[in-house]
Amino acid sequence: MLKVLSGLSLEQLEDLVAKEGGSKFRAKQIHNWIYSKSVSSIDEMTDLSKDFRESLKHNYTVTNSKIKTKQVSSDGTIKYLIEYSDGECVETVLMRFDNRANLTACVSSQVGCAVNCSFCATGKRGFIRNLDYKEIIEQVLTIQRDTGLKVTNIVFMGQGEPLLNLDNVLKALEIFNNDFQIGARRITISTSGIIPKIKELANSELQSTLAISLHAPNHQLRAELMPIENKYNIDELKNSLLEYIEQTGRRITIEYILIHGFNDTTECAKELAYYLRGIKCNINLIPYNNVNDTKYKKSSNDDIMKFKYLLEHSGKKVTVRLERGADIDAACGQLRGKTV
Ligand code: SAH
Ligand code: SF4
Repeated sequence: MLKVLSGLSLEQLEDLVAKEGGSKFRAKQIHNWIYSKSVSSIDEMTDLSKDFRESLKHNYTVTNSKIKTKQVSSDGTIKYLIEYSDGECVETVLMRFDNRANLTACVSSQVGCAVNCSFCATGKRGFIRNLDYKEIIEQVLTIQRDTGLKVTNIVFMGQGEPLLNLDNVLKALEIFNNDFQIGARRITISTSGIIPKIKELANSELQSTLAISLHAPNHQLRAELMPIENKYNIDELKNSLLEYIEQTGRRITIEYILIHGFNDTTECAKELAYYLRGIKCNINLIPYNNVNDTKYKKSSNDDIMKFKYLLEHSGKKVTVRLERGADIDAACGQLRGKTV
């Protein structure tokens, strides 16, 4: 079977080139073709001699994954379904925001997810397997190869719970930093709140932003949405967030889905503001996106604005997440790894 070049560091490429009898600077060229020019095949590496390309092709390939489907939303969001060598698929989404040069990739960390939140399409599928770090970075390479553009920001908000696959996520982050030259501060990891792993992250001296899917202001409501609340409850979560902030000095993001009549009331806003006192954070409100088979509805715009106002009153910075790609089921929580 051919070995995959994508995911190799410059040092690893240097070893490989030495074994193939090439000179050292060939490694730098290959590195550039993979991560900056994002080619799909060895044949496209035109500054390597034809003979060297032919000999590389005996043992190596740029990638062994493929784009199974690609959908483009009316707002410019693109959703790819990527198929890996074992036939498993995940989505990755490219979002462009008007008036900003940023190109944000929303990447998956697992096939499916074990956390099983009641509002999320990914959770409904159950957990299939972890992605290895090469499969994670492959998603960003796929976007770059297909669009010819450089991704500038990454959010781990696709399928899966990144903190339950932390080793591969950390290794992917290292490659995003070193090889893609995407700074850690331009990367966000979103978690449902796996407390022991939040402690591990705090120790890793990572500069990326931690986003916490809170979604409710108290134990009872949160447990209805997220079974993980029965394992790592909201009070222990608060303690771990305070420790994380104290240890890292970093501001975190709190994500809060707004569901009509469930967690979008004035009481909930006040309770949330109370819960968040002392936590250095920005709040990102996410209007609920429709997912089949759930009883939930999106909050009205009035209720969203009122909720935002009440939280701002408590002194926090609050943003409302723009809905992207809902017409192609690419919005938060709508990813499920299916073609139809
Ligand atoms: N598993 C991680 C990261 C992926 S989910 C996590 O849960 O944090 C990315 C974000 O989308 C999370 O905040 C998640 O709660 C949110 N989300 C899931 N389903 C959603 C839905 N139906 N509508 C809006 N947001 C949703
Ligand atoms: Fe998993 Fe996140 Fe979906 Fe919950 S919201 S089921 S943690 S992917």
